Formats: sequence, C-alpha cells, structure tokens
Amino acid sequence: HIADTVTLHNGVKMPLLGLGVYKVEEGATVVQSVKWAIAHGYRSIDTAAIYKNERGVGQGVREAMQENGLTREQLFITSKVWNSDLGYESALAAYETSLEKLGLDYLDLYLIHWPVKGKYNDAWRALEKLYQDGRVKAIGVSNFHVHHLEDVMSIATIKPMVDQVELHPRLTQPELQRFTKEHGIVLEAWSPLMQGELLGDPLLSDIAAKHGKSVAQIILRWDLQHGVVTIPKSTNEKRIMENASLYDFELSAEDMARIDGLNENRRIGPDPDNFNF
Ligand code: NAD
Repeated sequence: HIADTVTLHNGVKMPLLGLGVYKVEEGATVVQSVKWAIAHGYRSIDTAAIYKNERGVGQGVREAMQENGLTREQLFITSKVWNSDLGYESALAAYETSLEKLGLDYLDLYLIHWPVKGKYNDAWRALEKLYQDGRVKAIGVSNFHVHHLEDVMSIATIKPMVDQVELHPRLTQPELQRFTKEHGIVLEAWSPLMQGELLGDPLLSDIAAKHGKSVAQIILRWDLQHGVVTIPKSTNEKRIMENASLYDFELSAEDMARIDGLNENRRIGPDPDNFNF
C-alpha cells in the first residue's frame, strides 16, 4: 500500500515512498506538486534548506491537509541542514529557520545534507539536542559513506536513524546496504531514477514490458523490495501518480538479482569524499 512504512530504530514510522522536490521551483509549482502528491496518497515530502522551496512546501502541505482531511501526524516532512550551517549553534538556528519557512512546529526528519570534513560531528550534536528536546521526531544524515557513519557514531549518543544517499541500479551501494542493515539505519535513495538517465535501459525496459509497468515503476519497486526508502521527483501529475502505483505487482528474486547486477558504481552527483564546497 502507498502509505507503507519502515520503522526507524527509535520506533518512528517513515513512509517508504515520498516526493522529492529538488530543483522544483518555489511558489506555485512546488505548492501544486506537493498537493497532487498528497491528494494521490503520498504521505512524505523531502525538501532541504538549499532547495529554497520550503515556503511552498509548507503551503502545499497545509492546503493538502485541509483539502484531504489529514492531520499533521499523518504526514512525514523531511528537511536538511546545509553545509554553511554545520556548526552546533548554526545548525540549531538553521532548524528554526526551516520550521519558520515551512510554517510547521516540528519536522519528522532532519538530516545533515553532506559530510563536510571537520564539521559534521558538531552538527550531529545539535541534531541530538533537537531530538532530545522533542523538537524533531527523527534525525539522520545524507551522503555519508560507511567511514563517515563510523566517525559520527564514535561521538554520537544517538545513532543516525536514516542515511539518504544517491542510490539506483547503476549505484546500488552494496557496502552501505550491508552496514546500515547491520546497524539498524534506514537507507534512503536519492535520484532513484538517476534523474531520468535509467529510463531507456534495455534490461529494465525488458523487465518493465514483462510486468506491463514503466521503467520508473520497476526501479521504485526494486527500492521498496530492498526496504530502501525512495523519493522520486516529479512536477507532473500523471508521473506523480505513476511513481506511486507500485503495489499491484512484484519483482521475482531473479528480476531483483538482474537489477542488482546493473551496478557500475556510477554516480551522477558528487562523491561525498571529493565534494568541493
Ligand atoms: P530522480 O531520479 O527522482 O529523477 C527525477 C526526474 O526524472 C524528473 O525531473 C523527471 O523529469 C523524471 N521522472 C520522474 N518520474 C518519471 C516517470 N514516471 N517517467 C519518466 N520520467 C520521470 O532525481 P532527483 O530529483 O535528483 O532525486 C529525487 C529527490 O532526491 C530530489 O528531488 C531530492 O528530494 C532528493 N535528493 C537529495 C540529494 C541529497 O544530497 N540528499 C541529492 C539529490 C536529490
């Protein structure tokens, strides 16, 4: 079912499917995309301070709640602290700014956006403080390799609940899949469709034809069957619906293995170890 969840290590339930809004224009476009998604059953929205669309996301969320008779507790809203705010005090302040823009009084998940060397551990202490004060339901990281997770866990009193990373059939992240499973951290896929690059892949097209589904649906279903949270982006109502229509078919173990076999460790985004901020 579209509202299926995975349980984070603190007991909070996170929807397996969400709408991503990276590069979705602030204002009418983002408001409309968020409203379509929620009207069609999405319960989770992924934004970030750097996307500069938190006001529109908040407006879309509030209007959708009203129009669909939903309460805030039924939705799951994520934002992220940007690299320039990775000090202890600055991360605390960034959280308040995000809440103010969103017009919400809490977030379900707050993430450190990138593991900027020498800075992310201070920011982690700030996220722990927000969590311990009951200001946020869950905290996590993004773009963390195994070594970044080990490093933050060495100073943490609370383990990250989520790691959101680039993950798709050409970058299946086997090492992170193993490590996060072992430590009870939920893995979340950004650019699950490789920003569209994967949609013409012959093997995925073949599997899609067999199931009478689109390539996008095959990839997103592959995420779900791996227990990976996925947040495809679209501003098109039909595609928003298409990307959520994942519950009327199942990939066989053989399909899953064939898709896993597409891994080339290929990124479209920066490598977190060599991101020049
Ligand atoms: P994506 O892989 O979700 O691809 C989105 C693009 O694919 C859209 O622009 C659209 O043109 C196309 N598309 C979507 N659905 C389609 C369909 N059914 N059929 C055909 N084409 C379709 O790329 P993304 O936006 O980079 O990633 C998703 C989300 O992940 C972002 O919006 C953002 O929320 C998050 N993200 C996070 C980070 C991070 O550093 N944490 C980085 C990038 C993205």
